[in-house]
Amino acid sequence: MRLLSLLAGAFVCSTFGFAGGQAPPPPVRTVLVFGHLWDGTKLLDDVAVTVEGDKIALVEAGRRQVPPGGIDLRRYTAIPGLIDLHTHMTYYWDRKPGTRPLGQRRRPGVTVFLAQDNARRTLETGVTTVRDLGASGETDFAMRDLIAMGAMTGPRMFVAGQGISAGRGWTPDPAAMAKNAEDRIKAGSDWVKVYGSRGSFDSVETTQTITFDEMKAIVDAAHAQGHKVAIHSYGPSGVKDAVRAGADSIEHGIDLDDETLAEMARRGTVWVPTIDHNRYYVDAKDEFGFKPEAIPPLQDYIAKNLESARRAFKAGVKLGMGSDAVYSMFGQNTRELEWMVKAGMTPAQALATATTTAAELLDQKDRLGRIAPGFAADIVAIDGKPLENIADVVTDVRWVMKDGVVVIERKRP
Ligand SMILES: [Zn+2]
Repeated sequence: MRLLSLLAGAFVCSTFGFAGGQAPPPPVRTVLVFGHLWDGTKLLDDVAVTVEGDKIALVEAGRRQVPPGGIDLRRYTAIPGLIDLHTHMTYYWDRKPGTRPLGQRRRPGVTVFLAQDNARRTLETGVTTVRDLGASGETDFAMRDLIAMGAMTGPRMFVAGQGISAGRGWTPDPAAMAKNAEDRIKAGSDWVKVYGSRGSFDSVETTQTITFDEMKAIVDAAHAQGHKVAIHSYGPSGVKDAVRAGADSIEHGIDLDDETLAEMARRGTVWVPTIDHNRYYVDAKDEFGFKPEAIPPLQDYIAKNLESARRAFKAGVKLGMGSDAVYSMFGQNTRELEWMVKAGMTPAQALATATTTAAELLDQKDRLGRIAPGFAADIVAIDGKPLENIADVVTDVRWVMKDGVVVIERKRP
């Protein structure tokens, strides 16, 4: 049996021509020419980008000529492939009349297959990497692995598996929470996600559900194994405790006090405010069947969320772009960038929340978030001036490359 599989391996190798010590064929080389290019730090004009295989080999400004076999993207501005730091890619709704997004039930394997649609819609927004913060049945592990294998088209995924939460009536138990974190990592989670408070969908309840000691136990257990922790908190007390406990990122949150903001700036904690997700819930209220009385609290939460983001930006807190996309929100992943600008950022600073800052949080700062030699060939072509008008990123993505492969190509409307 063993001999047979060895022979079979040799046969496969020889058919591709690299048996017997021959070197594998060189990676495919493509030259892309853009009118403008923002490389993650600065804007350049007339830029040729040489892509070799799945990586960027060369970036040269002042080159307007498209070489034979090159791709002419001179009418566009290139930006690095974007990173959405907060998605739930496996929350899939088939939009059948008479159904709601919440409450559809299906087998995990079926969900993984159908959720390809969420992955495609995400790529269309120029997002080539996501951090997926919560899924059931290991469906996110499956998507991550299939995409990494090239068997499914989608953004590369860093995933958390099932989030850690405390049910009603839970007695605080730091040791049990540390064990939960270890179990998640053993099962395959890249990140550990913690629900530190209530609040989701039409509920903006801010009640903290996980104690400081439990958060600290989770963070210490995860860090001991080289994994990072994202803590969800709708209210300020959970954010304060999560920051002090050493969380790497904080998800959601309002009414953050000055002391907490200063502590986040000092520690380099990334805040992912996910302002736009409540805008989505207001807009999609009929799809979800939310009661009219749920809307004013959602709008109030948006206003407070934005106000805290303004203060956080002023205080020097690192902000990250996270959509918290679920169900029909895929395709709107980058609308959060407009809230970043409303919070006081320039378009370039807003783009950093989805490129350099996000890449650093993912421990990928030498691979993702920039268009530079040695980086993954993740490039987005925008029809417009994204460094002047951030809305162009949201509405005018025309072409997307991920790992050197063109995954989205759209005609001018
Ligand atoms: Zn979420």
